[in-house]
Amino acid sequence: MASTYDYDLFVIGGGSGGVRCARIAAGHGARVGIAEAAHWGGTCVNVGCVPKKIMVQASEYARHAVDAAGFGWHPASGETGRLVHDWPGFIAKKDAEILRLNGIYVRMLEGSGVVLHEARAVFTGPHTLDVGGKAVTAERIVIAVGGHPSLQPHIKGMELGITSDDAFHLKAMPRRVLMVGGGYIGMEFAGIFHGLGAEVDVAYRQPLPLRGFDGELRQALADAVTEQGVRLHPTQTVHKVEAAGDARRVTLTNGHVVEADLVFFAVGRTPKTGGLGLDRAGVVLDSKGAVAVDAGNATTQPHIFAIGDVSNKLNLTPVAIAEGHNLADRLFGPSRPRTWAMDPVATAVFSAPPLATVGMTEEEAVVCGPMDIYTAHFRPMRHVMSGRAGKTFMKMIVEQSTQRVLGVHMLGDDVPEMMQGIGVALVAGATKQDFDRTIGIHPTSAEELVTMRTVTRVAGVAQAAE
Ligand SMILES: Cc1cc2nc3c(=O)[nH]c(=O)nc-3n(C[C@H](O)[C@H](O)[C@H](O)COP(=O)(O)OP(=O)(O)OC[C@H]3O[C@@H](n4cnc5c(N)ncnc54)[C@H](O)[C@@H]3O)c2cc1C
Repeated sequence: MASTYDYDLFVIGGGSGGVRCARIAAGHGARVGIAEAAHWGGTCVNVGCVPKKIMVQASEYARHAVDAAGFGWHPASGETGRLVHDWPGFIAKKDAEILRLNGIYVRMLEGSGVVLHEARAVFTGPHTLDVGGKAVTAERIVIAVGGHPSLQPHIKGMELGITSDDAFHLKAMPRRVLMVGGGYIGMEFAGIFHGLGAEVDVAYRQPLPLRGFDGELRQALADAVTEQGVRLHPTQTVHKVEAAGDARRVTLTNGHVVEADLVFFAVGRTPKTGGLGLDRAGVVLDSKGAVAVDAGNATTQPHIFAIGDVSNKLNLTPVAIAEGHNLADRLFGPSRPRTWAMDPVATAVFSAPPLATVGMTEEEAVVCGPMDIYTAHFRPMRHVMSGRAGKTFMKMIVEQSTQRVLGVHMLGDDVPEMMQGIGVALVAGATKQDFDRTIGIHPTSAEELVTMRTVTRVAGVAQAAE
């Protein structure tokens, strides 16, 4: 019997997870609707990964231009050779690229037969939604509304600062920037603004940036950015922000005052569940305000699912996409849905220098007992010529008893590109011997990963003895 609902599946949110889920479900023959309240493509395309990476690349050219002198590049005689950055021109070009991507998302959805609603969707009941004033019913509903930058309203003057949502449309390039928060967004934008020529301070709560990452990697990043001239303020948060003309005067909790043109709060992200009418649908939140889901992404209502950042597991675009695709396959697709390994997941931070990581940190791996730690610090070939300071750092954590590689952590040029292949190796359960018997690619930095011969130190022994 044909369903009496308007749709077999309705997806709330046209971001990374929602678009994939809608598209794949429609491809399996389901009648699918999707609502997007702001911009097709969601956070990643509009105010996240994509424009961020474009800005990272813009910031790298200043360094490349300087480094080129080490390879014999000089201005022709009589010319100044000084490069200046056209901020408005760059932002306009970046916006045009994002607009192009928005269009691709719309065409992909329409091409799959999904019905698009450019409107906010709100639950009015377990199977009913208000979509921009229109009542819609659906047999199954997917919540894919993502998150938004967290605010800290208890900080006096916080409204004088910006969050990542604003950072992509600044009218002018700020000369002095205070980043508040040492998470990945804070460290990435510190690198962007510093690369583009700003003086940058970073204040963060922890002793080292990037809480949750491997301790040695965190230290390597802190050392590298300090060496470049970024001023780090560990164990500090903001006490108050005051206007000083167009500038900002920021007092940190230790009383230190930082003068900046831009105060950028990157203090975490919060699932976007407010005003969604979840109570009317009988959907329950967890203790951190994310939609509570089981291993199959089902909420407390078996016909309502949540994917991506709104369920606050691994808040990464490829994870949201994988969850959306897998869910659509399970609901409407073949008997064998496409699956992904959610542990380990390789990831990168596009700081300057960038870092990348997969698997356990040394701190996490102690539960596995004794481990061999291999590390390498070396000056990459490019910087022997360019004269730029800064070393590449690589670390491999190997479980002694099985020789299984538990984690790989790297900092330096190009390491995000290297890490995807290492991710495949770890998902496949590679051992140190698998790395050892792999022939390297020469001359690259990556070959260091298959030539680490000597154990740097043994760790986890004390814990194993306890
Ligand atoms: C600055 C920044 C940089 C990042 N960099 C990276 C990176 O390099 N790599 C990476 O993997 N991840 C990165 N991320 C994280 C990544 O963007 C998210 O993990 C990903 O976008 C999550 O996808 P999603 O589908 O869960 O939500 P989103 O992409 O946030 O999409 C949710 C969509 O739902 C819409 N919406 C919300 N409420 C409603 C409603 N009621 N009705 C209709 N529509 C609604 C929103 O407008 C939004 O478009 C970054 C994030 C930020 C903020």
